[in-house]
Amino acid sequence: MDAEALKRRTKISNQQSTIVVKMGGAAGVNLDTIAADVAASVQQGQQVVLVHGGSDETNKLSEQLGHPPRFVTSPSGFSSRYTDRQTLEIFAMVTAGKINTLLVEALQKKGVNALGLSGVDGRLMVAKRKEAIRAVDPSGGKVRMLHDDHTGTIQTVNAELLQLLIGAGYTLVIAPLAISPEGIALNVDADRAAAMIAAAVSADSLILLSNVPGLMRNFPDESTLIPRLERAGLEASLSFAEGRMKKKVLGASEALDHGVGQVILADGRVSEPVQRALAGKGTVIA
Ligand code: ADP
Repeated sequence: MDAEALKRRTKISNQQSTIVVKMGGAAGVNLDTIAADVAASVQQGQQVVLVHGGSDETNKLSEQLGHPPRFVTSPSGFSSRYTDRQTLEIFAMVTAGKINTLLVEALQKKGVNALGLSGVDGRLMVAKRKEAIRAVDPSGGKVRMLHDDHTGTIQTVNAELLQLLIGAGYTLVIAPLAISPEGIALNVDADRAAAMIAAAVSADSLILLSNVPGLMRNFPDESTLIPRLERAGLEASLSFAEGRMKKKVLGASEALDHGVGQVILADGRVSEPVQRALAGKGTVIA
């Protein structure tokens, strides 16, 4: 978010607490349970924005459509999806198409007036396209440049649009696509999208739900779950977060930098995942 956008950032309401919930795309995370708990929170008077991923289903549909997924690892150890134009279109079908609609449907069934959109709509999220990505060749360890990638890093969030829609009473469901300044749709990381959205609405809490109970010191040993992390200890915790968990920790750090009250990494497979997270189950970062 640029400085101008930060200045424009407005608290949507002083009475209600604002929560941004991000539902991960990994297997085991339950869409209906999360939607039901979001609906309960809304009905209790909280303002909730739901952001979601869709990586697992994108992999499945890519296989079915004969265009198998490709993952690349950057020299600094981050793993990401290589998104050519066809993959971007499949990603849009799964995220903005299926998952977004199913979440809106589940919320509407519970009596919540949900409205689904992706970052492409109304330029909700503008991202800088990665011109080329550096990928480590798994066979030889050499670094190669990959072109035609349709991923981006979010630069600005349209806070006015969020405010307009939330102010009109809609519960927003947001798919992780953004638009480049030139008008090209891009795949963006959903954790970081949720972090930027949380900053734009000055959220009290950002809850990142995935298929693990939180951040573990010694993954996958659940007895090593870290219940609480101070902002100052975040950089150090990057060392035991592997793969995509790194992006969650980075997202948490970004959100806190932009004034979000707390970030909770919590389990999305359990009943009442939002309420549990708010009760401190998971890894609370503040
Ligand atoms: P989602 O798609 O739900 O956002 P990700 O797959 O991106 O979730 O990230 C969660 C995954 O991160 C876990 O399933 C786990 O495999 C992995 N992970 C890596 N390191 C850790 C760690 N230290 N603690 C918890 N999970 C970790």
